[in-house]
Formats: sequence, structure tokens, C-alpha cells
Amino acid sequence: MTETPPKPGFSGMVQGSDWPRPQAWARPGVLDLGLDVLPGVSAALARKLRPLGIGRIGDLLFRRPRRYESAADEISIAQLFGNEEVAIAATVRSVRLRRHGRRSILTAIVADASGQISATWFNQPWLADKLAPGTPIRLRGKLGRHGFDVKSYDLGEAKATADFAPVYGASEQVPSSRIRELVRGALDAYGGDVLDALPAELDVPLRRDAVAAVHFPADLGEAETARRRLALDELVTLQLAVARSTADDAVAPPLGSPGELIERYRDVLPFMLTEHQEHAIGEIDADLARTAPMRRLLQGDVGSGKTVVALYALLRAVENGRQGALMAPTETLAEQHFLTLESLCAELGIEVALVTGSVRGSVEAPIVVGTHALIQRDVELADLAVAVVDEQHRFGVEQRQALAERHSPHVLHMTATPIPRTLALTVYGDLAVTEIGKPPAARKPIVTAWVGAERSSEAYERLRVHLDAGRQAYVVCPLIEVSETRLARAAEAEAERLRRAELAGYRIGLLHGRLKAAERREVMRAFKDGELDVLVATTVIEVGVDVPNATIMIVQEADRFGLAQLHQLRGRVGRGAEQSYCLLISRPKLELTDSASARLEALVETTDGFELAERDLELRGEGPLLGTRQSGYSDLRFTRLRADRDLLEQARAISRDLAREDGPWHDEADRLLATADPSSLA
Ligand code: ADP
Ligand code: MG
Repeated sequence: MTETPPKPGFSGMVQGSDWPRPQAWARPGVLDLGLDVLPGVSAALARKLRPLGIGRIGDLLFRRPRRYESAADEISIAQLFGNEEVAIAATVRSVRLRRHGRRSILTAIVADASGQISATWFNQPWLADKLAPGTPIRLRGKLGRHGFDVKSYDLGEAKATADFAPVYGASEQVPSSRIRELVRGALDAYGGDVLDALPAELDVPLRRDAVAAVHFPADLGEAETARRRLALDELVTLQLAVARSTADDAVAPPLGSPGELIERYRDVLPFMLTEHQEHAIGEIDADLARTAPMRRLLQGDVGSGKTVVALYALLRAVENGRQGALMAPTETLAEQHFLTLESLCAELGIEVALVTGSVRGSVEAPIVVGTHALIQRDVELADLAVAVVDEQHRFGVEQRQALAERHSPHVLHMTATPIPRTLALTVYGDLAVTEIGKPPAARKPIVTAWVGAERSSEAYERLRVHLDAGRQAYVVCPLIEVSETRLARAAEAEAERLRRAELAGYRIGLLHGRLKAAERREVMRAFKDGELDVLVATTVIEVGVDVPNATIMIVQEADRFGLAQLHQLRGRVGRGAEQSYCLLISRPKLELTDSASARLEALVETTDGFELAERDLELRGEGPLLGTRQSGYSDLRFTRLRADRDLLEQARAISRDLAREDGPWHDEADRLLATADPSSLA
């Protein structure tokens, strides 16, 4: 019997202490109902809603408001003054509708005890029928040139102008106010079909009440309480899904102690392992000795030397006569790892195979590097004992499940994205976490400067100084939000321009996503072997590229990149003993948005990945930091990663308790997951 999980604190809403035992997140089928079950939703409207990710009743019920209207002062008509948004409570006196072609203007004279005023609506002719003289009305808006400009209104009991009314992400075709009406309709008709799956002992508010209150709260405190309740459900669901992806009775081959091959590996490395690396290796050895598959997360900032540790784990499989595989999220990264491992393994006389795209059949090499192609049905890794999954947050729960189910190897996950431990555990299940810090060679912090475009020639001057001293450099091309093909063409043009202008006379290579794998590999090899001075590249170099002699990087139009992305890019330099530099060129500083400036400032101020991840969360809000949407179960729509750390712990405890052998969810997890929030259409 596990301990009762701690109670999440939910103040400000009635706690639902006596609902039935866990059943489901919602009555089956209800969340999947089409929008046409609501009155007044035409096929045309449904079509306009699709790009907003609204296609089903569940999408309305679980759409998170962006924000809430603040409370408007309710004043009398005689007090109307200035242009503050206010509310007035009045009665309709008379109505007049004028049409100009397809446009219309509706004016109503409304009155209260203090006086009267004309209120105006544009292009809402149908309202005329509803505004019969004598109808009580509450209007929200402000004083305009010709009377009262109405922003929202209530007739009778409805609450659309209610203070704290929800504001949703909307589009030009469908304004937030229309979505508000639809949500209202969905709540009225189906809100009662939202059920509870958490045990009554937790004594948290009813989920149904939370769904209602998150859309139409009495005040902001209630909205926040409701949001947290829905966040808890999301986290419990996700946690349960993750637990299902890691069978607890799996058996992996236990590996004996390190032998002669490992000794030779240590000899061929051109450096001593750091204390951190030794520590990680010790933990890995202990894991590998067991029959329970290793499930370890190796977390270390870019350049911290994870690859050396990864290869160690793979070689442990090889010296036990088994296979080791490294799985990377992109082809470029897989190729890069392949090159690194191949050159180290050549000295050990061990073959490394690269598996991307369309390989089928059995792969015999003792060490295999590849993309998710590795876990496809038609690829066979007969002897797999150790798998390393790089940048694993980019893989979904399903892919990790496929790996575990088909092979049940020991698994080492690696990530450079610093995430809080509790979050790692929530998103990846019960992983042991090892952190490593940077090796001595890479410990000199990279000097970062932010340069306005008008001074970019100075940046290139600086870069040439490095090249003339025998060092190498990267130039990262602007990020354009178009196809990979156009990005490639832009990069080609930029390389051509640099060849003739700033970098005339230097040997320039080009790397982008449209190159064939063999071409890409050749460029990387040439750069690595010093046959090229400068690598002009798109973000394909973001991860994995490792050339210690490269000591300076210029990022063009750096304001277009995300903070995490720039940090990853910057990690390509500072990999050797030399002082390295990163020059961020942006449009003139005065033209930048506040958040772009804040990103670039943060990069100049610190090279610490954890610090930057925190600032990134602050700047972007909860954002898709973890790629959790790939989980297929839940999008963490209501969860705020920073604010909800306490909920993460609680969700872990709750789901562990529910799913334990004698727990209520043990045999029902699949059924429960099937009733979880629908993942949105987008
Ligand atoms: P990560 O994969 O964590 O970003 P890498 O494994 O690519 O980092 O290592 C970064 C750089 O540091 C590489 O050039 C690598 O050869 C070097 N390196 C790794 N371990 C050590 C060490 N113990 N001493 C010196 N240099 C090291
Ligand atoms: Mg790496």
C-alpha cells in the first residue's frame, strides 16, 4: 500500500468530496461530437473554426481562455465620461436598423434612471429582433462619438458581458466573442458530461465545475483554481500514459563488468574523462549489471561531453557480444553522431553502421546509429542490448514505447535541454537522472556579443582574424519561415555572396537540409578535417556538430531565432581549449520587439543553459518546451510548467497510487486514457 498522495491545494472552489469512485474523464463519445450538434453552427462556420483547432465539442470545452476581461465599473448613463471601458445596466426604449448594401448599423436607445443614450452595433442585423422595447440589457463598452460603442452585451440572464468574461485565441473570420458564445452553448448542453476520474479522497473540486469555471469564473481567483484542477488532470493523464509506455516486468540482458575493450577505449580518447563523466559511467555500469532495463536520463548542457559517455554505454554492449544503437531525432544529427563514433571506433576495430530512411532487414554491425528508422517494424536488431536515445524529448511516448516493446534494451536517454527534475520524471516516467557539467576544455565561457546590422562588417572583420589564425568559423543563415527548399536556396545565395564579399579568398562550405546525405556528410568531413575555413549553414547544425577548432560563430538576423535555438547554435563553438565567440547580428536594435531584445540580452548575459531555459519560460509562457504534444494523449493545455511545479509532484504521486497493482486504475488505464481530453485538431 503506498502512501496517500499529498492533497493539492485548491482554494476558492467548492471541493467535490462525495462523487462516485473513478470512472472516466468524460462520458464516452461526448467530447468527439461534431459542432453541428450545437444550434446555429453552419457548415461554413464549422469550416472557419477548423484552423483554430476547434472541430469537436471537446475542443470548445477544453479551449483555454487566453485571458479574462477585467471587471468593468458599472456606472449610470449620466456618469458616462471619457473613454474608459465601463458597463451600464439599462432598458431598451427603441431600435433602428439601417442597411447599406451588405453592411448594417443597428442603433438602440437605452435608458436607466439617470438618463438615456444611443448604443450602436455594426453588422449584427439579427439583433434587431431581440431588442424589443422594454428588454433589460447590460452593455459593456465605452463612450464613442455618436453614443455608446458596444463591445459586448447581455440580455436577461446570459453572462457574456460578465466581468472576467473569457477571451479566446481567435481569427479574422471568427472573433473571440463568437467563440465565447459557442463555448457557452457547449457548456450548457454537454458540461454535465464531463466526469471525474480522480478518487474522492483527494477532495478536489469537481472537474465539471472546473470546466465551467475556467470559462466563466466569478473572479480571477476562481479561474486560476479551475485552471489548476484541469492542469492536474492533464498531468495525471500524461503520467499514466508514460507509465504504460514502460512495462515494469521487462527484462534486459545483464552485462558483466567492464573489460579489455573499455580499457582500450579509455586509451584512445585524447583526454581524461572528467569527474562528472566518471560518475555517470559508474551509474551506467551499475544499471547495466541488472536485469531490469536501465532507464537513465543523462542531462548536460551543450558541449558537456555526453557523446563520450554514450559511446561508453554502447561499447559495454559490444564487449558482451551484443549490439548497441544510438537513435537521433534527425538525419543530420544521426550522420554527425555516426562520423564521431565511426572515427573513435575505427581505432578500436569496431564497425559502425548508419541506418536512416528506407533500410530494411537485419542490421549486423555491433554499433548502429540512426533515426527513428531504427525502430521500424522491418528493421531487425537481433542482439540489441543498449540503446542511447539522443535529444529524447523530440521523440514521442509512442516511439519510446515501440523501442521498449520490441527490444527491451537498457536505455540511456540524453538531453541538452535543461528541464527541472520533477518535470523530467513526469514527462518521461520513472527515469534515474544523471547530470554532467562541462569538461575542462570547454569550460571557458563563450563570449557573446549582440551587434546591430549596421555594424555587421566589424563582425566579419573579427571572424577573419580567427580564420587568419588558423581557426574555423560558422555563419548561420537567417531563419525564414518557409519551406526547407527556399531556406536552402537562400543559404546557397548567402554563401555565394559571402564568397565574393566579406569572406573572399577563404574556403567556404555550405550545409543545409536539402543536401543529399552523402553530400552533407562530405561537407562535414571536410570541415572537420580542416579543408574548409567557414561553414555557412542553416539550423541543421543546431545539434551534434563537433569541431573543437571552430572558435567563432556569426548568427545573421539572430532576432528571428528562439532563445533555446540560439543557445544550441552557440554550443557549436567553445568546444576546444581556445576562447570562443558568438556574434549575434540583428536588425537595428530600435526596430526590435521587446521580447526579441530580451532574448538577445539574455544570451549576452549568460551561457548557462538552465538559466536560459528559465528565462525562456518567462518570455514565452508555458510554450511547447517539451514537445509533449507528441504524446498523443494530452497537450498540456492548462498546465503552466513553472507555476505548477507542485502539481507535477502531486500528479506523479496520484497516478502511481491509482495505477498500483491493487489500485483502481490498474486494469483500467487503457479505458481511462481513451476517455482523456481529445488532442486538438491542429
Ligand atoms: P555534448 O554531446 O554533451 O554536447 P560532446 O560530447 O560533443 O558534448 O563534447 C563536447 C566537446 O568536449 C567535444 O569536442 C569532446 O571531444 C570534448 N570533450 C568531451 N569530454 C572531454 C573531456 N573529458 N576532456 C576534454 N574534452 C572533452
Ligand atoms: Mg552532442
